Amino acid sequence: MSVANILFNKASITASGAILLGSSVVCDGFEEGRKTAIFTHIHTDHTEAFPTCLGRCDNVYVSKQTYDLLTAMEGEYLSLKNNFHGINYKDSEMPQNEKITLFESSHMLGASQVQVESSDGVKIFYSSDFTSKDSVPTKCDVLVLDSTHGDPRFDSVVDPESVERRFVDMIEDTIKNGKPACIHAHRGRLQYAMHILSRKINPDVSFLSSARDISAARVYDIYGMEIRPLVDYNSYVGKKIANGTYPYLEFRPDLHLTDREEAGMRRFFLMGSPGGGSALIDHGDNSVHLEFDDHANFSSILRYVEKASPEVVIVDNYRTPHGETLAEIITKTLNIPSKGMPQGNSSI
Ligand SMILES: [Zn+2]
Ligand SMILES: [Zn+2]
Repeated sequence: MSVANILFNKASITASGAILLGSSVVCDGFEEGRKTAIFTHIHTDHTEAFPTCLGRCDNVYVSKQTYDLLTAMEGEYLSLKNNFHGINYKDSEMPQNEKITLFESSHMLGASQVQVESSDGVKIFYSSDFTSKDSVPTKCDVLVLDSTHGDPRFDSVVDPESVERRFVDMIEDTIKNGKPACIHAHRGRLQYAMHILSRKINPDVSFLSSARDISAARVYDIYGMEIRPLVDYNSYVGKKIANGTYPYLEFRPDLHLTDREEAGMRRFFLMGSPGGGSALIDHGDNSVHLEFDDHANFSSILRYVEKASPEVVIVDNYRTPHGETLAEIITKTLNIPSKGMPQGNSSI
């Protein structure tokens, strides 16, 4: 067997999106027989199997921050589970015959990149979701790579500070005009938006959000990102505010339109536009897309791989549809054997 093939056998991505690292670890999914699980961050495309793993695995590891976020959102009962561990970045654990280490990622609070060192000394690294600011800490042999923006159409240069200024200006204008605004973003970016707007927007303006996002906001507070008290938009008071005449800000972790939005409320999507393009797109129909580098763009992904200088790359083709094409590009332009997994995925 060629060296590349031996290394390709050290990691894989299953048809249900579980990332298998070495011979004992499963990341962001569940796999029968794997007793050590790791969850890289709280986004739902990575945590669906969390309840299963809690019930079936000997050890479930997350970063300290992710532990706090999950406990705040799911319930204090989690802290009673003695197979559930929040660990510090850079500390290593060895529950079975392989050493696992989590490294901080800028993707969101608690997000981790994962290193597994196999018993025969092979370094396997899973990037999970990462930004252009992240890199691998040391050279690895096998790299499992996220491909969220792994298509050349996602190559806008994002300057998060200037996008942030424009965002705050637009929200201030909306409030000044006496209108409410709705902010849609993935959890994490949503809390960051609450944090920056808590400082900039008049304290009389109410902030509304879901009960789970309010719980997550309290954890952000603990880690030093102050967020003003929020009101649950499904509560009596929340509904009263939304039906009133005074402007307010609504923070939603989903893309669903509310009745108010259908009636012309301004919508802000803090994520890249699905078709790619520049970091700020005002669609002119009361909706705006703003991108904040939550996922490295296409060029940054290639730079990340180059810096990791792995012997082989496995690209996630489960969470996004362009894993196989990105693998071809890496093979061609960086001359590193690469493949997308699972093959021919059509779940997106
Ligand atoms: Zn994510
Ligand atoms: Zn993801």
